[in-house]
Amino acid sequence: MPYIICEKCSHYWEVEGEEEFWVFYMCDECGSLLIYVESLAEYNRLTKKIPSALEKTHTGRMAEHYWGMWRAGKLISITGLLSIPLSLFLTLKGFTAAIAILVLGIALIPVSFRFMSASEERGMGWAKGYVGELVVINCLRRLPDDYVIFNDVHFPGSYGNIDHVVLGPTGLYVIETKYYNGNYIIKGDQWFRYDLDMREEKSPSAQAKRNAATLKEFLASEDIHVSWVNAIVAFLNNSYRIIEEDEFCRVMKPCMIPRYIEHNRLMLGDIKIKRIREVLEDCSSEVW
Ligand SMILES: [Zn+2]
Repeated sequence: MPYIICEKCSHYWEVEGEEEFWVFYMCDECGSLLIYVESLAEYNRLTKKIPSALEKTHTGRMAEHYWGMWRAGKLISITGLLSIPLSLFLTLKGFTAAIAILVLGIALIPVSFRFMSASEERGMGWAKGYVGELVVINCLRRLPDDYVIFNDVHFPGSYGNIDHVVLGPTGLYVIETKYYNGNYIIKGDQWFRYDLDMREEKSPSAQAKRNAATLKEFLASEDIHVSWVNAIVAFLNNSYRIIEEDEFCRVMKPCMIPRYIEHNRLMLGDIKIKRIREVLEDCSSEVW
């Protein structure tokens, strides 16, 4: 029977499946990250502990940035509203310039509202992405001790970041997290949203493959040559169907990833793992 656990409060709940974990990824009582396990016996085997101060990833910082912009918009709208009584008061006192304050104040209100709704929309997108990352991080904790997880990996001089990289005896994995609503059909690296009858412009599979290639190139520039970097899309969505598997990129639900990684073919020796780890540590916000 699967469970969701808050380690800080020592609470656990029985759940139907992984989907419930996406909804309750954070503890109501203490705000800590929850963990999903297939059984309590599996929980007792976990060794990767959540660091007490979880550093914000790039996605988390972006969500915070838009939240800050939303608050700034609100402040501007309040200023605009306050200018109305102020200008009336000044007019009564005989200040003719008060009309300018009134015009400016009224002009500020629609501008600030548009600004707020734009920040909210973009901020919600990033916040959702951040939730997805947290869910994936907590699923990856189920990997055995000889696997290392790098979160929010960014290479010097390159644009963008990789959500997660996993390194261990079965090789290197680049994980792209996507948290989408709607019903999807995935054919190779083409993603279709069939409830809206449209094709996703940016293919998550193509993005994961590009990130895998970037990681391979980066390691080569550090004189570490690996034959293959696996690409995975961690897809948080209740309704999708894969009609044609992409040969070079796997799409799966977050909690399926540890099992997939563990049962892959052995690929990397200890010496290479150690070297890759040293190089990647400097490029990540967080290493587990
Ligand atoms: Zn708690």
